[in-house]
Amino acid sequence: MIPESFIQELLARVDIVDVVERYVALRKAGANYSACCPFHSEKTPSFTVSPSKQFYHCFGCGAHGSAIGFVMQYAGVGFIEAVEDLAHNAGMQVPQVSERIQTERAKKAPLTELMARAARFYKEQLKASPKAIDYLKGRGLTGEIAARFGLGYAPDDWQGLQAAFPDYNDSALAACGLVIENEQGRRYDRFRDRVMFPILDQRGNVIGFGGRFIGDHKAAQAENAAAGPKYLNSPETPLFEKGRELYGLAQARQAIRDSDQVIVVEGYMDVVALAQHGVGNAVATLGTACTPSHVHKLLRQASKVVFCFDGDAAGRKAAWRALEASLEQLADDRSVGFLFLPTEHDPDSFVRAEGADAFRRLAAQPTTLTEFLMRELCAGLDLERSAEDRARLVHDAKPHLQKLAAPVLRVQLTKAVAKAAAMTQAEVEDQCGIKPPTRGRPPPPRPRHRTVAMTLEHALLEPVLYKPERAARIPLERVSAEDPQGALLHAIADRVDHGELPAGGIGMLIESFRGTPHEATLSSLAPLMAQDEPDPGELEAVFVDALERLREKDLTREIAALNQKARAGSVTPEELRELLARKAQSQKTQPSE
Ligand SMILES: [Zn+2]
Repeated sequence: MIPESFIQELLARVDIVDVVERYVALRKAGANYSACCPFHSEKTPSFTVSPSKQFYHCFGCGAHGSAIGFVMQYAGVGFIEAVEDLAHNAGMQVPQVSERIQTERAKKAPLTELMARAARFYKEQLKASPKAIDYLKGRGLTGEIAARFGLGYAPDDWQGLQAAFPDYNDSALAACGLVIENEQGRRYDRFRDRVMFPILDQRGNVIGFGGRFIGDHKAAQAENAAAGPKYLNSPETPLFEKGRELYGLAQARQAIRDSDQVIVVEGYMDVVALAQHGVGNAVATLGTACTPSHVHKLLRQASKVVFCFDGDAAGRKAAWRALEASLEQLADDRSVGFLFLPTEHDPDSFVRAEGADAFRRLAAQPTTLTEFLMRELCAGLDLERSAEDRARLVHDAKPHLQKLAAPVLRVQLTKAVAKAAAMTQAEVEDQCGIKPPTRGRPPPPRPRHRTVAMTLEHALLEPVLYKPERAARIPLERVSAEDPQGALLHAIADRVDHGELPAGGIGMLIESFRGTPHEATLSSLAPLMAQDEPDPGELEAVFVDALERLREKDLTREIAALNQKARAGSVTPEELRELLARKAQSQKTQPSE
């Protein structure tokens, strides 16, 4: 574990504005800085960075956190790595890193280095292979595009990599999937006589390769069983998790942001061919069906995701898997669509035959998720004639309706199902066990309206977040620790009491409670904290007011208890009078609500 004192020291040393500015151009806006959010696609800036609070927040997508959180989210790295990155830049030495992470990193670093070296080797080999160059030229690719995607060539040689790795027996070569060992213990290259497509992670490291067979694959297979499949990918390794990675994302990022759309195709050749024709916003899954993790990643890049599949049966099946992976990831301001190409085409051949504009036109008007879902659900049913088929439709629609995370879209889809099944919306909702609008993901937190009644704990918490020392003034025995906000108040007060909470703004608070049950409570308050800091006088007034309410609530309870005792005859009227006077007093100092 990294000691908490180090995290505090680090956050005190770095300025979140500098950290964010390394990646995002910020504009001064009042006391804060603003920019278009790097975590979702938008045209008007809703991303703010507060130097006084050392905290960032996006009003669009809700992203928020400290400088550490920003690096984690932006670079897609873990907590320790983000801390190390920041410490490195601040010239600080991270004291202790846990053993597990050290071994994990020790395992990964040499693999990343090996993959980079292999990529350089394949790239060099491409220059020396007229056959591979001819192949790429034949597909209409220029040297510029080949360079942009780092394309290479694995020579037709059982131990070609020996030229790049003198220690060909290094076990790491097998661990990162570059070589294979046969039963006799002999080693040979996994990729031979193939055009090589390096697969990059978010930070631009090579984590895997895709290799495409050159030439007539069927003929080669008939002649030689060792020719292998037409497309060959790196296996799963410590670096490469197929269900999470997307080919071409690093190269497509800018075009995706510009168009607010990402097109998902099936193969890396499709991605490169589309880029060659000026369609730069395409990525590919890597020989696996689309997973929810893919969709999650995609919907963070752009608000429109279009899955592009071949029009054949396999393509429809793949599209259906993508639809299922999308339901739980959708939001009402995001859309997922499906583009089915004519059966004789894949994106590569289509864009070459019909041109980029024709492709863009199709991609701009894909089959919507609702259309595709209804079409598939209704296929083969006689809804006109058969009550059984209408029942079947509702039955089949149920799991999809339940999974769909976008509440408004779910109402729309429910209506469509109801109409097709000749039922009312309420009947379908009832049968499917969905109740709008309470089910599904909670709506995103709203910006603060001071007029809205706050719970007592909330009213206490806001002033405390701005100035944790205030927690010491709260009579905590009167604050329930059952409620999450109350529990957070207790926790903050406890740290203040032990001198463990140095000033450093909300960013510091968030870090100091990372990994505790209070993390979620703090997160839910982020939108509130991202607003302009209220006037300190006003904040103090809110706090004093909340303290009064707390005391009064307590008095009311006390009086009720005494009243009961009085009825039983075990309390003197004087006691009761005195209490009532105190209550009256507290109401005088505290204008009525
Ligand atoms: Zn955002």
